[in-house]
Amino acid sequence: MKYYSLNNKSHKVSFEQAVVEGLAPDRGLYFPENITTLPDSFFTNIENFSNEEIAFEAIKQFVGEEIPENELKHIIKETLCFDFPCVPVEENVFSLELFHGPTMAFKDVGGRFMSRCLGYFNRDKDIRNTVLVATSGDTGGAVASGFLGVKGVEVVILYPSGKVSDIQERQLTTLGQNIKALEVNGVFDDCQDMVKKAFLDESLKHKNLTSANSINIARWLPQMFYIFFAYKQLKKYNKPIVFSCPSGNFGNICAGIMAKRLGLPIAHFVASTNANDTVPRFLEKGSYEPKPSVATISNAMDVGNPSNFIRIQELYHNDLKEFEKDFSSYSYTDTETEAAIKDIYSRTNYIAEPHGAVGYLGLKKEMAKQPDSIGVFLETAHPIKFLDVVEPLLGLKLPIPKQIESVLGKEKIRTKISTYQDLKDFLN
Ligand SMILES: *Cc1c(COP(=O)(O)O)cnc(C)c1O
Repeated sequence: MKYYSLNNKSHKVSFEQAVVEGLAPDRGLYFPENITTLPDSFFTNIENFSNEEIAFEAIKQFVGEEIPENELKHIIKETLCFDFPCVPVEENVFSLELFHGPTMAFKDVGGRFMSRCLGYFNRDKDIRNTVLVATSGDTGGAVASGFLGVKGVEVVILYPSGKVSDIQERQLTTLGQNIKALEVNGVFDDCQDMVKKAFLDESLKHKNLTSANSINIARWLPQMFYIFFAYKQLKKYNKPIVFSCPSGNFGNICAGIMAKRLGLPIAHFVASTNANDTVPRFLEKGSYEPKPSVATISNAMDVGNPSNFIRIQELYHNDLKEFEKDFSSYSYTDTETEAAIKDIYSRTNYIAEPHGAVGYLGLKKEMAKQPDSIGVFLETAHPIKFLDVVEPLLGLKLPIPKQIESVLGKEKIRTKISTYQDLKDFLN
Protein backbone atom coordinates (compact mmCIF):
# COMPACT_ATOMS: atom_id res chain seq x y z
CA MET A 1 0.00 0.00 0.00
CA LYS A 2 1.20 3.46 -0.87
CA TYR A 3 0.45 6.62 1.08
CA TYR A 4 0.36 10.12 -0.33
CA SER A 5 0.92 13.44 1.37
CA LEU A 6 -2.23 15.49 1.77
CA ASN A 7 -0.18 18.51 0.68
CA ASN A 8 1.02 16.90 -2.52
CA LYS A 9 -0.71 13.83 -3.90
CA SER A 10 2.16 12.92 -6.17
CA HIS A 11 4.48 12.47 -3.19
CA LYS A 12 3.98 8.77 -2.41
CA VAL A 13 5.72 6.52 0.07
CA SER A 14 5.49 2.97 1.40
CA PHE A 15 3.77 2.00 4.67
CA GLU A 16 7.19 1.66 6.28
CA GLN A 17 8.34 5.09 5.18
CA ALA A 18 5.09 6.71 6.30
CA VAL A 19 5.45 5.09 9.75
CA VAL A 20 9.11 5.97 10.08
CA GLU A 21 8.64 9.59 8.91
CA GLY A 22 5.36 10.30 10.68
CA LEU A 23 4.72 13.49 8.71
CA ALA A 24 5.63 14.01 5.03
CA PRO A 25 8.58 16.37 4.32
CA ASP A 26 6.07 18.96 3.03
CA ARG A 27 4.25 18.76 6.43
CA GLY A 28 1.31 16.91 4.89
CA LEU A 29 -0.36 14.04 6.71
CA TYR A 30 -0.08 10.68 4.98
CA PHE A 31 -3.23 9.13 3.57
CA PRO A 32 -3.77 5.69 1.97
CA GLU A 33 -3.88 5.69 -1.81
CA ASN A 34 -6.71 3.10 -1.95
CA ILE A 35 -9.38 1.95 0.45
CA THR A 36 -10.99 -1.36 -0.49
CA THR A 37 -14.34 -2.35 1.02
CA LEU A 38 -14.33 -5.72 2.79
CA PRO A 39 -16.72 -8.43 1.50
CA ASP A 40 -20.33 -8.44 2.82
CA SER A 41 -19.83 -11.97 4.13
CA PHE A 42 -17.28 -10.62 6.60
CA PHE A 43 -19.88 -8.35 8.20
CA THR A 44 -22.71 -10.87 8.14
CA ASN A 45 -20.46 -13.41 9.89
CA ILE A 46 -18.53 -11.04 12.12
CA GLU A 47 -19.65 -12.74 15.35
CA ASN A 48 -17.78 -15.85 14.25
CA PHE A 49 -14.44 -14.02 14.12
CA SER A 50 -12.17 -13.38 17.10
CA ASN A 51 -11.06 -9.81 17.80
CA GLU A 52 -7.60 -10.66 16.48
CA GLU A 53 -9.04 -12.03 13.22
CA ILE A 54 -11.23 -8.94 12.79
CA ALA A 55 -8.29 -6.63 13.37
CA PHE A 56 -6.20 -8.53 10.86
CA GLU A 57 -8.91 -8.26 8.18
CA ALA A 58 -9.31 -4.54 8.87
CA ILE A 59 -5.63 -3.59 8.77
CA LYS A 60 -4.01 -5.97 6.28
CA GLN A 61 -4.68 -3.89 3.14
CA PHE A 62 -3.03 -0.89 4.80
CA VAL A 63 0.16 -2.78 5.61
CA GLY A 64 0.33 -4.80 2.41
CA GLU A 65 3.35 -7.04 1.94
CA GLU A 66 5.62 -4.91 4.09
CA ILE A 67 5.09 -6.94 7.23
CA PRO A 68 4.67 -10.70 6.69
CA GLU A 69 1.30 -12.14 7.66
CA ASN A 70 2.52 -14.11 10.67
CA GLU A 71 4.45 -11.08 12.01
CA LEU A 72 1.43 -8.82 11.56
CA LYS A 73 -0.75 -11.32 13.40
CA HIS A 74 1.77 -11.38 16.21
CA ILE A 75 1.78 -7.56 16.41
CA ILE A 76 -2.03 -7.57 16.55
CA LYS A 77 -2.04 -10.20 19.29
CA GLU A 78 0.31 -8.11 21.44
CA THR A 79 -1.68 -4.95 20.69
CA LEU A 80 -5.01 -6.43 21.76
CA CYS A 81 -4.01 -7.76 25.16
CA PHE A 82 -7.17 -6.49 26.89
CA ASP A 83 -10.98 -6.35 26.54
CA PHE A 84 -13.23 -3.85 24.74
CA PRO A 85 -16.64 -4.34 26.35
CA CYS A 86 -19.79 -2.46 25.25
CA VAL A 87 -21.45 -1.87 28.61
CA PRO A 88 -25.19 -1.07 28.74
CA VAL A 89 -25.70 2.25 30.56
CA GLU A 90 -29.37 2.97 29.93
CA GLU A 91 -31.97 1.87 27.40
CA ASN A 92 -30.36 1.77 23.93
CA VAL A 93 -27.18 3.48 25.19
CA PHE A 94 -23.85 1.70 25.58
CA SER A 95 -20.42 2.74 26.77
CA LEU A 96 -17.62 1.27 24.69
CA GLU A 97 -14.95 0.99 27.35
CA LEU A 98 -11.55 1.53 25.80
CA PHE A 99 -9.70 1.83 29.09
CA HIS A 100 -8.82 -1.70 30.09
CA GLY A 101 -5.26 -1.53 28.75
CA PRO A 102 -1.93 -0.87 30.50
CA THR A 103 -2.34 2.95 30.76
CA MET A 104 -6.14 2.85 30.92
CA ALA A 105 -6.82 4.94 27.82
CA PHE A 106 -7.71 4.02 24.24
CA LYS A 107 -4.35 5.29 23.05
CA ASP A 108 -2.80 2.05 24.29
CA VAL A 109 -4.09 0.42 21.10
CA GLY A 110 -2.34 2.79 18.70
CA GLY A 111 0.73 3.09 20.92
CA ARG A 112 1.25 -0.66 21.12
CA PHE A 113 0.60 -1.25 17.43
CA MET A 114 2.90 1.51 16.26
CA SER A 115 5.80 0.62 18.57
CA ARG A 116 5.74 -2.96 17.36
CA CYS A 117 5.65 -1.93 13.69
CA LEU A 118 8.65 0.32 14.25
CA GLY A 119 10.41 -2.45 16.16
CA TYR A 120 9.80 -4.77 13.19
CA PHE A 121 11.15 -2.26 10.67
CA ASN A 122 14.27 -1.70 12.82
CA ARG A 123 14.88 -5.39 13.43
CA ASP A 124 18.16 -5.68 11.52
CA LYS A 125 19.14 -2.03 11.39
CA ASP A 126 21.69 -0.15 13.36
CA ILE A 127 19.87 3.19 13.28
CA ARG A 128 18.20 4.87 16.22
CA ASN A 129 14.81 6.53 15.90
CA THR A 130 13.61 9.25 18.17
CA VAL A 131 9.86 9.28 18.71
CA LEU A 132 8.91 12.86 19.49
CA VAL A 133 5.41 13.32 20.80
CA ALA A 134 3.28 16.13 22.17
CA THR A 135 0.58 15.13 24.62
CA SER A 136 -2.45 16.90 26.02
CA GLY A 137 -2.88 14.10 28.52
CA ASP A 138 -3.10 10.48 27.53
CA THR A 139 -0.93 10.09 24.45
CA GLY A 140 2.24 10.46 26.49
CA GLY A 141 1.48 7.66 28.90
CA ALA A 142 0.30 5.26 26.20
CA VAL A 143 3.32 5.97 24.00
CA ALA A 144 5.71 5.71 26.94
CA SER A 145 4.23 2.36 27.96
CA GLY A 146 3.97 1.07 24.38
CA PHE A 147 7.59 1.93 23.52
CA LEU A 148 9.25 1.10 26.83
CA GLY A 149 12.30 -1.00 26.10
CA VAL A 150 11.75 -1.12 22.28
CA LYS A 151 15.17 -1.55 20.73
CA GLY A 152 16.69 1.36 18.81
CA VAL A 153 13.98 3.82 19.81
CA GLU A 154 14.27 6.77 22.18
CA VAL A 155 11.01 8.48 23.17
CA VAL A 156 10.78 12.18 24.02
CA ILE A 157 7.44 13.40 25.34
CA LEU A 158 6.40 17.07 25.59
CA TYR A 159 3.52 17.97 27.88
CA PRO A 160 2.06 21.32 28.98
CA SER A 161 3.04 22.24 32.52
CA GLY A 162 0.16 22.05 35.00
CA LYS A 163 -2.36 20.93 32.35
CA VAL A 164 -2.23 17.16 32.76
CA SER A 165 -3.52 15.24 35.78
CA ASP A 166 -1.14 13.93 38.45
CA ILE A 167 -1.69 10.32 37.35
CA GLN A 168 -1.15 11.22 33.70
CA GLU A 169 2.06 13.03 34.60
CA ARG A 170 3.30 10.06 36.60
CA GLN A 171 2.57 7.69 33.72
CA LEU A 172 4.93 9.60 31.48
CA THR A 173 7.63 10.71 33.89
CA THR A 174 8.30 7.59 35.96
CA LEU A 175 9.21 4.85 33.49
CA GLY A 176 12.87 5.72 32.83
CA GLN A 177 14.92 3.63 30.37
CA ASN A 178 14.39 4.95 26.82
CA ILE A 179 11.55 7.32 27.85
CA LYS A 180 12.28 11.06 28.47
CA ALA A 181 9.69 13.65 29.53
CA LEU A 182 9.82 17.41 28.91
CA GLU A 183 7.55 19.73 30.89
CA VAL A 184 6.77 22.68 28.61
CA ASN A 185 5.98 26.11 29.93
CA GLY A 186 2.91 26.61 27.68
CA VAL A 187 -0.27 24.93 26.45
CA PHE A 188 -0.71 21.77 24.34
CA ASP A 189 -0.64 23.72 21.06
CA ASP A 190 2.82 25.06 22.00
CA CYS A 191 4.01 21.47 22.50
CA GLN A 192 2.50 20.40 19.18
CA ASP A 193 4.05 23.38 17.36
CA MET A 194 7.51 22.57 18.72
CA VAL A 195 7.16 18.96 17.60
CA LYS A 196 6.06 19.98 14.11
CA LYS A 197 8.97 22.40 13.85
CA ALA A 198 11.48 19.79 14.94
CA PHE A 199 10.34 17.43 12.17
CA LEU A 200 11.29 20.02 9.57
CA ASP A 201 14.57 21.05 11.18
CA GLU A 202 17.54 19.99 9.03
CA SER A 203 19.86 20.25 12.02
CA LEU A 204 17.92 17.40 13.69
CA LYS A 205 17.98 15.06 10.67
CA HIS A 206 20.49 12.74 12.34
CA LYS A 207 17.99 12.03 15.15
CA ASN A 208 15.61 10.21 12.74
CA LEU A 209 12.59 11.85 14.31
CA THR A 210 9.15 10.34 14.02
CA SER A 211 5.80 11.12 15.59
CA ALA A 212 3.52 8.96 17.70
CA ASN A 213 0.55 11.28 17.64
CA SER A 214 -2.40 10.18 15.58
CA ILE A 215 -0.78 11.93 12.62
CA ASN A 216 1.28 8.73 12.39
CA ILE A 217 -0.67 6.17 10.35
CA ALA A 218 0.42 3.31 12.62
CA ARG A 219 -1.10 5.11 15.60
CA TRP A 220 -4.18 6.24 13.72
CA LEU A 221 -5.36 3.21 11.71
CA PRO A 222 -5.52 0.53 14.45
CA GLN A 223 -8.11 2.73 16.15
CA MET A 224 -10.57 1.24 13.65
CA PHE A 225 -10.35 -2.10 15.45
CA TYR A 226 -12.64 -1.42 18.36
CA ILE A 227 -15.37 0.13 16.21
CA PHE A 228 -15.57 -3.31 14.56
CA PHE A 229 -15.53 -4.99 17.99
CA ALA A 230 -18.43 -2.80 19.13
CA TYR A 231 -20.41 -3.64 16.02
CA LYS A 232 -19.83 -7.33 16.66
CA GLN A 233 -21.37 -6.92 20.13
CA LEU A 234 -24.33 -4.76 19.03
CA LYS A 235 -25.28 -6.37 15.72
CA LYS A 236 -27.89 -8.59 17.42
CA TYR A 237 -30.10 -5.56 18.18
CA ASN A 238 -30.59 -5.05 14.47
CA LYS A 239 -30.91 -1.26 14.72
CA PRO A 240 -28.99 1.64 13.19
CA ILE A 241 -25.92 2.41 15.33
CA VAL A 242 -24.79 5.92 16.22
CA PHE A 243 -21.25 6.36 17.56
CA SER A 244 -20.23 9.38 19.60
CA CYS A 245 -16.55 9.97 20.01
CA PRO A 246 -15.13 12.54 22.42
CA SER A 247 -12.75 14.32 20.07
CA GLY A 248 -9.59 16.39 20.33
CA ASN A 249 -7.25 15.77 17.42
CA PHE A 250 -10.05 13.82 15.65
CA GLY A 251 -7.85 10.77 15.06
CA ASN A 252 -10.14 8.34 16.82
CA ILE A 253 -13.28 9.46 15.02
CA CYS A 254 -11.47 9.57 11.70
CA ALA A 255 -10.49 5.92 12.25
CA GLY A 256 -14.18 5.17 12.90
CA ILE A 257 -15.09 6.76 9.58
CA MET A 258 -12.40 4.61 7.93
CA ALA A 259 -14.11 1.54 9.42
CA LYS A 260 -17.34 2.67 7.76
CA ARG A 261 -15.45 3.07 4.48
CA LEU A 262 -14.39 -0.55 4.82
CA GLY A 263 -18.09 -1.41 4.85
CA LEU A 264 -18.90 -1.49 8.55
CA PRO A 265 -22.62 -0.59 8.81
CA ILE A 266 -22.51 2.46 11.09
CA ALA A 267 -25.41 4.88 10.66
CA HIS A 268 -23.89 8.06 12.03
CA PHE A 269 -20.87 9.55 13.79
CA VAL A 270 -20.87 12.33 16.34
CA ALA A 271 -17.69 14.18 17.23
CA SER A 272 -18.34 15.56 20.69
CA THR A 273 -16.00 18.29 21.85
CA ASN A 274 -15.42 20.44 24.91
CA ALA A 275 -15.14 24.24 24.62
CA ASN A 276 -12.51 23.71 21.91
CA ASP A 277 -15.18 23.80 19.25
CA THR A 278 -13.38 24.44 15.96
CA VAL A 279 -15.22 21.61 14.16
CA PRO A 280 -18.73 22.28 15.53
CA ARG A 281 -18.26 25.93 14.49
CA PHE A 282 -17.11 24.79 11.05
CA LEU A 283 -20.28 22.71 10.59
CA GLU A 284 -22.40 25.62 11.67
CA LYS A 285 -20.71 28.36 9.65
CA GLY A 286 -18.98 26.53 6.82
CA SER A 287 -15.62 28.14 7.46
CA TYR A 288 -12.74 26.48 9.27
CA GLU A 289 -11.24 28.85 11.81
CA PRO A 290 -8.88 27.21 14.31
CA LYS A 291 -8.37 29.02 17.60
CA PRO A 292 -5.78 28.65 20.37
CA SER A 293 -6.85 25.88 22.75
CA VAL A 294 -8.49 26.63 26.08
CA ALA A 295 -8.06 24.47 29.18
CA THR A 296 -10.98 22.28 30.25
CA ILE A 297 -11.65 19.34 32.59
CA SER A 298 -11.53 16.98 29.59
CA ASN A 299 -7.95 18.01 28.94
CA ALA A 300 -7.02 15.32 26.43
CA MET A 301 -9.35 17.14 24.03
CA ASP A 302 -7.92 20.63 24.54
CA VAL A 303 -6.97 21.05 20.92
CA GLY A 304 -7.58 24.24 18.96
CA ASN A 305 -6.60 22.94 15.52
CA PRO A 306 -7.40 19.23 15.24
CA SER A 307 -4.68 17.67 13.11
CA ASN A 308 -6.76 14.81 11.68
CA PHE A 309 -9.67 16.88 10.47
CA ILE A 310 -7.96 17.24 7.12
CA ARG A 311 -8.07 13.43 6.74
CA ILE A 312 -11.82 13.47 7.33
CA GLN A 313 -12.22 16.16 4.68
CA GLU A 314 -10.19 14.01 2.30
CA LEU A 315 -12.48 11.04 2.98
CA TYR A 316 -15.43 13.18 1.88
CA HIS A 317 -13.59 14.95 -0.95
CA ASN A 318 -14.35 18.22 0.84
CA ASP A 319 -18.04 17.73 0.09
CA LEU A 320 -19.77 19.23 3.11
CA LYS A 321 -23.21 17.98 2.07
CA GLU A 322 -22.08 14.34 1.87
CA PHE A 323 -20.14 14.74 5.06
CA GLU A 324 -23.08 16.05 7.05
CA LYS A 325 -25.14 12.97 6.16
CA ASP A 326 -22.75 10.82 8.18
CA PHE A 327 -21.41 13.23 10.71
CA SER A 328 -22.43 15.76 13.37
CA SER A 329 -20.36 17.63 15.91
CA TYR A 330 -21.47 19.25 19.15
CA SER A 331 -19.61 21.17 21.85
CA TYR A 332 -20.14 21.16 25.64
CA THR A 333 -18.94 23.36 28.47
CA ASP A 334 -17.32 22.06 31.65
CA THR A 335 -20.50 22.89 33.57
CA GLU A 336 -22.57 20.72 31.22
CA THR A 337 -19.98 17.96 31.43
CA GLU A 338 -20.00 17.97 35.24
CA ALA A 339 -23.79 17.93 35.29
CA ALA A 340 -23.75 14.93 32.91
CA ILE A 341 -21.32 12.97 35.13
CA LYS A 342 -23.66 13.51 38.08
CA ASP A 343 -26.80 12.79 36.09
CA ILE A 344 -25.49 9.55 34.57
CA TYR A 345 -24.36 8.33 37.97
CA SER A 346 -27.55 9.23 39.80
CA ARG A 347 -29.78 7.56 37.22
CA THR A 348 -27.70 4.55 36.22
CA ASN A 349 -24.86 4.13 38.73
CA TYR A 350 -22.39 4.30 35.84
CA ILE A 351 -19.24 6.33 36.54
CA ALA A 352 -18.23 8.35 33.47
CA GLU A 353 -15.12 10.54 33.37
CA PRO A 354 -15.15 13.96 31.65
CA HIS A 355 -14.29 12.77 28.10
CA GLY A 356 -16.85 9.99 28.15
CA ALA A 357 -19.44 12.38 29.57
CA VAL A 358 -18.88 14.78 26.66
CA GLY A 359 -19.33 11.80 24.34
CA TYR A 360 -22.54 10.85 26.14
CA LEU A 361 -23.99 14.35 25.74
CA GLY A 362 -23.30 14.43 22.00
CA LEU A 363 -24.76 10.95 21.62
CA LYS A 364 -28.02 11.85 23.37
CA LYS A 365 -28.40 14.95 21.24
CA GLU A 366 -28.03 12.97 18.03
CA MET A 367 -30.23 10.10 19.21
CA ALA A 368 -33.05 12.55 19.83
CA LYS A 369 -32.96 13.10 16.04
CA GLN A 370 -32.69 9.38 15.30
CA PRO A 371 -35.08 7.77 17.79
CA ASP A 372 -34.93 4.24 16.29
CA SER A 373 -31.19 3.97 16.74
CA ILE A 374 -28.98 2.50 19.43
CA GLY A 375 -26.04 4.56 20.53
CA VAL A 376 -22.50 4.05 21.72
CA PHE A 377 -20.29 6.62 23.37
CA LEU A 378 -16.60 5.90 23.59
CA GLU A 379 -15.35 5.89 27.17
CA THR A 380 -11.81 6.83 26.25
CA ALA A 381 -10.16 6.76 29.69
CA HIS A 382 -10.75 5.21 33.11
CA PRO A 383 -12.36 7.58 35.66
CA ILE A 384 -9.39 7.09 38.00
CA LYS A 385 -7.29 9.19 35.60
CA PHE A 386 -9.60 12.12 36.30
CA LEU A 387 -10.26 11.46 39.97
CA ASP A 388 -9.77 15.16 40.82
CA VAL A 389 -12.95 15.85 38.84
CA VAL A 390 -14.96 12.68 39.40
CA GLU A 391 -14.52 12.01 43.12
CA PRO A 392 -15.71 15.38 44.48
CA LEU A 393 -18.58 15.52 41.97
CA LEU A 394 -19.92 12.12 42.94
CA GLY A 395 -18.84 12.22 46.58
CA LEU A 396 -17.07 8.89 46.38
CA LYS A 397 -13.61 7.39 46.48
CA LEU A 398 -12.58 5.35 43.46
CA PRO A 399 -10.61 2.17 44.06
CA ILE A 400 -7.13 2.36 42.49
CA PRO A 401 -6.69 -0.18 39.67
CA LYS A 402 -3.45 -2.16 39.63
CA GLN A 403 -2.17 -0.43 36.45
CA ILE A 404 -2.27 2.93 38.26
CA GLU A 405 -1.00 1.70 41.60
CA SER A 406 2.27 0.74 39.99
CA VAL A 407 3.13 4.37 39.05
CA LEU A 408 1.87 6.18 42.14
CA GLY A 409 4.84 5.74 44.42
CA LYS A 410 7.46 6.49 41.78
CA GLU A 411 9.44 9.70 41.44
CA LYS A 412 8.61 12.02 38.54
CA ILE A 413 11.66 12.70 36.38
CA ARG A 414 11.34 15.42 33.76
CA THR A 415 13.20 18.38 32.28
CA LYS A 416 11.52 21.79 32.12
CA ILE A 417 11.70 23.71 28.85
CA SER A 418 10.21 26.96 27.51
CA THR A 419 11.40 27.49 23.95
CA TYR A 420 12.08 25.58 20.77
CA GLN A 421 15.80 26.20 21.30
CA ASP A 422 15.52 24.40 24.66
CA LEU A 423 14.05 21.38 22.85
CA LYS A 424 16.87 21.39 20.31
CA ASP A 425 19.50 21.64 23.03
CA PHE A 426 17.90 18.71 24.79
CA LEU A 427 17.84 16.56 21.66
CA ASN A 428 21.39 17.38 20.58
C1 LIG B 1 -6.67 11.57 23.14
C2 LIG B 1 -7.94 11.48 23.89
C3 LIG B 1 -9.15 11.89 23.31
C4 LIG B 1 -9.21 12.52 21.95
O1 LIG B 1 -8.88 11.64 20.90
P1 LIG B 1 -8.51 12.22 19.44
O2 LIG B 1 -8.18 11.03 18.64
O3 LIG B 1 -7.35 13.14 19.64
O4 LIG B 1 -9.71 12.95 18.97
C5 LIG B 1 -10.32 11.71 24.04
N1 LIG B 1 -10.30 11.20 25.28
C6 LIG B 1 -9.16 10.80 25.87
C7 LIG B 1 -9.21 10.26 27.26
C8 LIG B 1 -7.94 10.93 25.20
O5 LIG B 1 -6.82 10.55 25.78
